[in-house]
Amino acid sequence: MFPQKMRRSFEPGYENWEPGTCLLIYTCTVNAEIVAVGSEMLTPFRQDTNSLFLTNQLNSLGVEVIAKTIVGDDRARLAEAARMALSRADIVIFSGGLGPTEDDLTREAVAEALGVELRRDPALITELYTRFASRRIKMPENNARQAELIEGAEALRNPNGTAPGQWIETLYNGAMRVIILLPGPPWELEPLFVEQCMPRLRSSVPETYIATAQLKLAMVPESLADQRAAVIYKQFPQVQTTILASAGEVQFHLRAQASTQEEAEYRVETLSGLLEEEFAKECFSTGDETLEQIVGYYLQMRNTTVSVAESCTGGLLAERLTRVSGSSRYFMGGVVVYSNEMKTLFCDVPPLMIGAHGAVSKEVAIALAEGIRGECRTTYGIGITGVAGPTGGTEEKPVGLVYIALADGGKPEVIERRFPGDRLRIRHFATQQALEMLRQKLV
Ligand code: ATP
Ligand code: MG
Repeated sequence: MFPQKMRRSFEPGYENWEPGTCLLIYTCTVNAEIVAVGSEMLTPFRQDTNSLFLTNQLNSLGVEVIAKTIVGDDRARLAEAARMALSRADIVIFSGGLGPTEDDLTREAVAEALGVELRRDPALITELYTRFASRRIKMPENNARQAELIEGAEALRNPNGTAPGQWIETLYNGAMRVIILLPGPPWELEPLFVEQCMPRLRSSVPETYIATAQLKLAMVPESLADQRAAVIYKQFPQVQTTILASAGEVQFHLRAQASTQEEAEYRVETLSGLLEEEFAKECFSTGDETLEQIVGYYLQMRNTTVSVAESCTGGLLAERLTRVSGSSRYFMGGVVVYSNEMKTLFCDVPPLMIGAHGAVSKEVAIALAEGIRGECRTTYGIGITGVAGPTGGTEEKPVGLVYIALADGGKPEVIERRFPGDRLRIRHFATQQALEMLRQKLV
């Protein structure tokens, strides 16, 4: 860990370390915490996006973000958040709360957490006056607060605003800490961080490299995917594995850190290779591609075409297929046939069939797929019919029941599924299943 390494590297003069000298952080992962300050980010209307930017920058140095906190403009809570962050992270970055107004309290709170004073910096005061003078405005008295530096801090010039940032290297409860205060507006924070903080961090943090990989699976329940994958990824404790799931899709995100790029890549690639083997059938991408892109890629490669007849998905499948640029080469078109009459009119579904089996049935799904395939003269036809809810379900045909059929001129395939969730989710599931069915046919 960073403190032990520090101790070793500075021995025996560790106690003589002076703030302001460059930090030497030797091995291990250095970690960071980001504290986003601002009451607006505790409302439903504003998001903290600065931490995403900062995380990306820190990760590029091999620094792991271990926690993020959002705190309102409240001095006591801010000081508490500062103490918490300082107790557990090597680098603590505050964003926001450096303005001139009464509710900008980051300086005060961090000073309080460190048990030090604020002092007005004469050079900063002069700069502020000059800045206002150049704009021919008299500086409001409260702007002088922005010239207050935490004892031991170095000011970070902010060319895009009046609030300078602050850089502090200090011991906190015996552990070495780098504390950075940044202005909240992203257009001020980003250049300031890149130009002034990154070079300093780069020279302090030991060189580590990060490699990442991802795998995307279609139509595997998350818990099942995890169960099957856990047996494998548990053997690789050096690779951080994150599982993200949405309707009909599971993504594995792998991330490894090492002292060389090759080692980091070797670690993620070994694990991703094994996961790919385990999920050979369900894995549709090891990159950024979406399922509709992959399906499009195969359709084109095989010189084939597809058309769709959609009932409960209301055109969502056509929408997804046409998200891909160049899809006109393989997607011929389709229909949204919501009423029974339209199913008959556009896809030749016999009214007697609908009468006998109901519009939501295996038979009608197949008839839709075959009907649209014939009308559009495509290699494949897809038919979807189901109950998307939340109304319209019955005991026999509950909400979530969907039939998806795939016709190719031979024996049609049809799948019956009972999807969980709300209307949006059920519809998405249905299109995901349809795309996966087509992909399985094509691979
Ligand atoms: P100053 O601008 O004087 O430095 P400040 O740092 O507190 O003050 P605010 O005035 O609170 O900044 O915010 C200025 C703008 O920056 C607002 O639009 C605010 O929503 C945005 N902002 C602040 N923090 C963040 C954040 N973490 N992520 C995204 N935007 C933010
Ligand atoms: Mg603020």
